[in-house]
Amino acid sequence: MNIISIKDVVKIYQMGQEKVPALRGVSLDIEERSFCCLLGSSGSGKSTLLNMMAGLEKPTRGEIIIKGRHMERMDEETLALFRQKHIGFVFQAYNLLPTRTALENVEMPLIFQGKPRKLRRQMAEEILTAVGLGERLHHRPAQMSGGQQQRVGIARAFVDKPEIIFADEPTGNLDTKTTDEVMRMITNIARDNHQTLILVTHEPEIAEYMDKVVTVRDGSVESVRVK
Ligand code: ADP
Ligand code: MG
Repeated sequence: MNIISIKDVVKIYQMGQEKVPALRGVSLDIEERSFCCLLGSSGSGKSTLLNMMAGLEKPTRGEIIIKGRHMERMDEETLALFRQKHIGFVFQAYNLLPTRTALENVEMPLIFQGKPRKLRRQMAEEILTAVGLGERLHHRPAQMSGGQQQRVGIARAFVDKPEIIFADEPTGNLDTKTTDEVMRMITNIARDNHQTLILVTHEPEIAEYMDKVVTVRDGSVESVRVK
């Protein structure tokens, strides 16, 4: 079953008088529980496509259907609730709150969901321990390495076990060894939880961790390879 269906999506950014076409009619189906990679060079439109699937941006034209719901037709409030319920997002630059501890950063999405304090704490501690940060619960981002910060980012995305995880160049700021650790971690947790994973990268080696590789070039899907 397809959990995500994209139909002829066009995205044109308006830059003053100039129109920048970022996506030129993309159609794509993503199977439930599959691991899909969007691979392409810088500027090809990968992030635009991912952000649109994650409901962070609206397409200029076309349809984005997730779990049978049209994302492009939702108002901001509906979209926010839908994201809260079904979607986790891992960022390249971690996007952690600098004044908050690892534990507080991971608790953040649970606060928005209105989960009680004790349960929040317990869920955050559990996932942070699972990503190997059980001894770093009270550290702030600046007191951790890049790899550790990204593990906090992963813990935050996965804490409530959303059905869909989006990751935009999650290892883009990490060295080779840490990249391997982080990729194994993301794919192992997603597999254990039966989640759907959609990941953006410009590195063919990263694509090897995924089941399906969608090559994006100049705002279009160039090829789809299923392993
Ligand atoms: P990638 O993630 O593959 O590097 P992006 O999706 O970020 O590519 O960008 C695709 C194209 O759209 C690029 O030409 C980029 O300059 C342009 N673009 C992206 N975001 C914006 C924006 N907010 N405003 C104007 N142009 C944008
Ligand atoms: Mg990008």
